[in-house]
Parts: sequence; C-alpha cells; structure tokens
Amino acid sequence: MRSPIPDYLAEALESVEADNSGETADYIPELAAANPERLAVALCTEDGRLYSQGGVDVAFSIQSISKPFVYALALADRGFDEVMEKVSVEPSGDPFNEISFEEGTGRPLNPMVNAGAITTHTLAGPRDATPPERASRIIDGLSAFAGRRLQIDENVYESEISTAYRNRALANMLRANGMIDDEPLDAVTGYTRQCALLVTVEDLALMAATLANGGVNPVTEVPVVPARVVRQVLSVMATCGMYDGSGHWMTEVGVPAKSGVAGGLIGALPGQAGIATFSPRLDSHGNSVRGVDLFRRFTTDMGMHLMEVPPPGPSVVRGRRLVGDGDNAVQVVSLQGGIRFSGAERVLRELEDDPLTQKSVAISLMRVATVGPVARRMLLEAVRRLTLDGHDVYLIDPDGVLHDPDPGDGGRVTVVSSYDDLADLRKAEP
Ligand code: GLU
Repeated sequence: MRSPIPDYLAEALESVEADNSGETADYIPELAAANPERLAVALCTEDGRLYSQGGVDVAFSIQSISKPFVYALALADRGFDEVMEKVSVEPSGDPFNEISFEEGTGRPLNPMVNAGAITTHTLAGPRDATPPERASRIIDGLSAFAGRRLQIDENVYESEISTAYRNRALANMLRANGMIDDEPLDAVTGYTRQCALLVTVEDLALMAATLANGGVNPVTEVPVVPARVVRQVLSVMATCGMYDGSGHWMTEVGVPAKSGVAGGLIGALPGQAGIATFSPRLDSHGNSVRGVDLFRRFTTDMGMHLMEVPPPGPSVVRGRRLVGDGDNAVQVVSLQGGIRFSGAERVLRELEDDPLTQKSVAISLMRVATVGPVARRMLLEAVRRLTLDGHDVYLIDPDGVLHDPDPGDGGRVTVVSSYDDLADLRKAEP
C-alpha cells in the first residue's frame, strides 16, 4: 500500500497556494528579493520517517528558527541557572525586534525575541570560548539537530549585517545592562551568521523532530541535548515562539512553534513529530502567512492541539480473579494499557477501597504497554505496602514493563512471566 500521508501534504499545499497576501521581509534586502511563490512542507515522525512535498530542495536562511536551538545549546552548555540569570522566559507580547528589557534586572524577556537571542548566542559553548569557537559550537550543534552539515549563506549574512542597526542597538544595551560580556559588534556578527545558516524544510522538520523526540536525533540517533533542556525549550516556544502572535497561535494551533523571517516555520509535537513549512510572505507579526494557515489546517486534520483533552481510555484496572485453589490460591489484579499518574492512582484507590483478602496476591502487567516513571514509583509503593500488610506479592510481568522492581524499605516482590510460572512456583513453595 502507498501511504496516504504524502497525498495529504500535497493537498494541504494546494489548499493554501492561491493565497498571496503578506510581504517578504523588507528590512533584509536579500530576503526582500526572495521568490515569494515558494512553498514546501515536511513532516518527520519521532522515529525518523520523513514525508515532504513542494519545493523541498530549496534552501533558505533559518533566521529566528535558530533561536530555540541555540537556546537549547546554551542551556546544555552553561546550565539553567547561568542562562536564566541572563535571559528570562516571560512572553513579551512585543514584536521580535522590540528594544525592551525586564524592569529591575535589565534581562531580555525571553530567548525568542532578538534581545534574548543575541544573549543566548553568547552563552553557547564553554565560558571561555572565543567568538569563532562559539560560532563552530553553534554550527556543529544545529547541524547535529539537522543530521547534516549546515552552511552559512554569506550573501544573506552580508545583506543583514549591513542593515542591522536595531540589533546593534540591542547588543549595546545588553552590554550596558551586563547581560553579555562580548563586544556588542561580535555578538551581533555571531548572531547574524547564526541566522544566515541555510536549511530546507526537510532539515527543519528533522530539527523539530529531534525536539519532539526528547533531544535525540531520530535519524542519526545522536543525543543532541538532554530531555530536561528540551522541555524548557518547548515551553518557551509554546509561550513566546510566535512573537506578539503567540497567544493566538497557542489557542488556535496549540503546538510549540518558531517562525523565521525568511518564511520558515516549525512545530514540534512532543512524542509525535516535527513539522516544517516554508513560504516567504509574512503577516504583520513576521510569521509566514501560508505557513500559519497550513499549521491551522494540520491541527484540525491531525488533532495536534496539545490542550485537546484525550478521550478517556479503558480503565487501568481490568479486573480481579482467583487463580488456584485452597491455600495455594492467589488473588490477581490485572492491569491494562499505558499507566501514568492518574492510572496508578486508580490502582491505589481500588486497593484501598476494596482490600485484597488473600494472603498471596499478584499484580498482572501482562496487558500493560507502558508504565511511566511516576506510575512506576506509585505501583512499587503499592507493592511495598501490600508486603507490610502481610501479603506475599507477585508481579506477572513477562515484558519487564516495570523494570527494576525493587520496592525497597521492607517491600518484597517475586516477578514471574505467566500464570503457569506463578502456579508452578506456588506448588514448589512449602
Ligand atoms: N535575523 C533576524 C533578525 O534578527 C531574525 C528575525 C526573525 O527571523 O524573526 O532581525
């Protein structure tokens, strides 16, 4: 069978193709001259399958889409405390190039506006890195996200730096506020070069998929940044990624995202996929008009909105039964599905409200697909408390979904793979 996903993406492009509203970014001459008709989309799943349609080979400058990735590198290289001291995480509601700082501290409000991004640029790499060393760290890091070596478009860089008066003003303010240690011109030069890295929609989809996959590039399998960093970056993308259009974006589309003035747009859906679009005409916020439309469509068609409440799954507690008879009988509680906090809470509640009556009890995980880390701790605590209440506790866990099941502190559990094993074991026991 041929997958319908490429057809769906082609159809989505067709549906927005006729819209020629918006303008290409006019403050960077090289971008103003870009072909405004270009249109492309790519989707990369969290396990690395790439689908794309339209002008997928067209390379364009990454611009502000570099910001979340460089923020990730800064967090990974310098730690949260040092980065937070210099850049806050509050949505500013301001345009991307606004000259505004947090009252009292003089920090930029977030890493997605230019002031914050120029600062995080200076925080990538080790503290004693020279500007060229930092530039290499950034190219290497963004290339690791993309899974291939990225290059700078020197024409875009020259074009932007020759008119970067506002960004220079920002860098001077940042230096005056003590937020950057670099010479302001070095910081702007490095930041502008970072923005001039060339990417295709496929690169961007893979970069976003690396975020969606917790920081590990799903194609090369290279761990690029830790999962805790990804959580921070996605949170900031969700609240600040679309500049002064962020609130509308989050309510209408509901996916952590970042746009760039060359016309790129990415969205990262945690645990599912990275999506990228390219169309150079921008709306008044500096976001790609057709890109935003495509994402609106994807949200509806693919149910991507993060705040969508999932339909209730089947109850985690599947049932109870007695296995064996007489003194050998074991009371088994069978669980099912994927277990997270609320599922584990149901298990604990059932064990409290309707206590197990047999001395030997088993929890069957045969139909359980996954146990989240919090649920794992809760289930192990249930095992421990059952032991302390005087039960002999067994786990039927053929696939080891409850890895390393040590309840600790007086808890004891015997792990078996099947009911037969349990019965054999019970017979063998005195
Ligand atoms: N290099 C651009 C600037 O600093 C990035 C802005 C953007 O893509 O939104 O003005």
